[in-house]
Amino acid sequence: MKGASMSKATTTQSAQAAPGAAEIRRHRHLIAGQSRAEGGETIERRSPVDGRVLAEFALGTAADVRRAVAAARSAFDGGEWPRIGGMDRGAVLYRLAGLIRGNREELARLDAEEVGKPMRVARGDIDGAAGHTEFAAGLAGTVHGDIHTNLGDDFTGLIMREPVGVVAVIVPWNFPALILMQKLAFALAAGCTAIVKPSEFTSGSALRIAELAADAGLPAGSLNVVTGDGRTGQALVESDHVDLVSFTGSTATGRRVLAASEGNLKRVSLELGGKAAQIVFADADLEDAVEGVLFGAVFNQGECCVAGARLLVQDEVADEFLSRLVARAEKLRLGGPDNEDADLGALIHPEHLEKALGHIARAREQGARVLIGGERVEGERHGGGCFLAPTVLDRVGAVTSAFQEEIFAPVLTVTRFSDAQEAVALANAVRYGLGNTIWTKDVDKVLDVSRALKSGTVWVNCSIDGAPQLPFGGVKASGYGREMGRAGLEEFTELKAVQIRTGRRAGTFGLSPGEG
Ligand code: NAP
Repeated sequence: MKGASMSKATTTQSAQAAPGAAEIRRHRHLIAGQSRAEGGETIERRSPVDGRVLAEFALGTAADVRRAVAAARSAFDGGEWPRIGGMDRGAVLYRLAGLIRGNREELARLDAEEVGKPMRVARGDIDGAAGHTEFAAGLAGTVHGDIHTNLGDDFTGLIMREPVGVVAVIVPWNFPALILMQKLAFALAAGCTAIVKPSEFTSGSALRIAELAADAGLPAGSLNVVTGDGRTGQALVESDHVDLVSFTGSTATGRRVLAASEGNLKRVSLELGGKAAQIVFADADLEDAVEGVLFGAVFNQGECCVAGARLLVQDEVADEFLSRLVARAEKLRLGGPDNEDADLGALIHPEHLEKALGHIARAREQGARVLIGGERVEGERHGGGCFLAPTVLDRVGAVTSAFQEEIFAPVLTVTRFSDAQEAVALANAVRYGLGNTIWTKDVDKVLDVSRALKSGTVWVNCSIDGAPQLPFGGVKASGYGREMGRAGLEEFTELKAVQIRTGRRAGTFGLSPGEG
């Protein structure tokens, strides 16, 4: 489609591919409440499960980005969204949460098919997206400033907490709707307006959620979605009319985002990669820990920033723990969206599968022993899909790439330790600092080790759980800034001090009448 084209309808049009074949969804951007696209280029999304074409997304041009930013700018500078009361914003967000819940199957299917994950995992993601929206809706009316009455008799201070302005929300492909709402719901609750750039692989649910937001009563222009690739994201980050970039993705892209943001010194929050350790102490409930460690490592086929990808296990229980872990891993089931029994799905695309296999081959060369998996899963039920068998690599040294690098696949490395000090040193011996897990029944160990771990989150006897109430984010190369919780909303605000002279002092050159 060449040139500007606008319609008030939906951002999605469906085209029947061939008789009997599933339809291909064709999407355009959502800008200022209109479905449109400037250039003719599109991005094709193929299923990672069977390779069929699922959707085509418009490739956002610099002109698309400019229009979307202008729409968000005008909705912020002159529109009603930042000016209505927080409770009113909360009411819209509660309606949006209801619509997300009401359209759970449709949204879950978009994410399940585009990511290649089982529907039952995708349904949980949509529930999570609605939960974040509800929590942010409840917070919206509670945001307020402060008054300072302790400046002496002559002055009173107002501390205003204001929305930061126009926000660019850039998200990855692993949890499209969930990560989107971890950011967007809080930004909107604060009174910001937004432009969303979803991943080129998984843009369907962001566009649908934006339509639902309009149905919920969000004013046009307050939320815009521009689909595209890294160039589209880069153009958004470079815009001098964007006030804050809220980015989730890899550490490498995060660095590029930071560099591109310098033009107008916009604020940037970076949720980046991770390489979480799961420390199993000898006193842990081993049965519980086996289940939890495996879940933490392979949930969402390991494509999870907080995946507990490094098992650190205490020497005296290591052999027993590993034999139980492998026995449990043998029972894991792989399958596509419609396999209701599947525990994990396909990797996002063939290149990612090849990359994961390369990591495994390198780990073997560096001395690791494959206890289970290590190969692509093929055969009748998985033929052609990007399925990687859940993999456990034993005897992985701390200086090897399998220990240090984010593999982002169902690959668990195993390293043994003798005491808590060594466990902490190993856990902290990577450049990332997003999350870590401790498995123990000893409360002293819980507190000591939690303090010593360098990560934004520590899970104890559970892994990768999340709650909208708790702040989430990283340290070190996992980025900075916090999502969720009250801190997650405050990320999207700015403080302004208003100093009011209330006394009789003239204030000329700081001198009171008579002092001169
Ligand atoms: P990615 O390649 O870094 O991409 C993330 C997003 O940035 C995508 O929308 C991408 O668009 C866009 N992008 C690419 N280049 C850009 C540029 N130069 N300027 C602006 N935007 C740009 O990450 P991914 O492969 O989608 O996701 C996996 C990574 O995300 C992993 O490292 C994972 O740990 C991390 N992650 C972190 C968290 C967290 O909360 N810390 C959560 C989930 C995932 P395209 O997709 O079109 O290239």
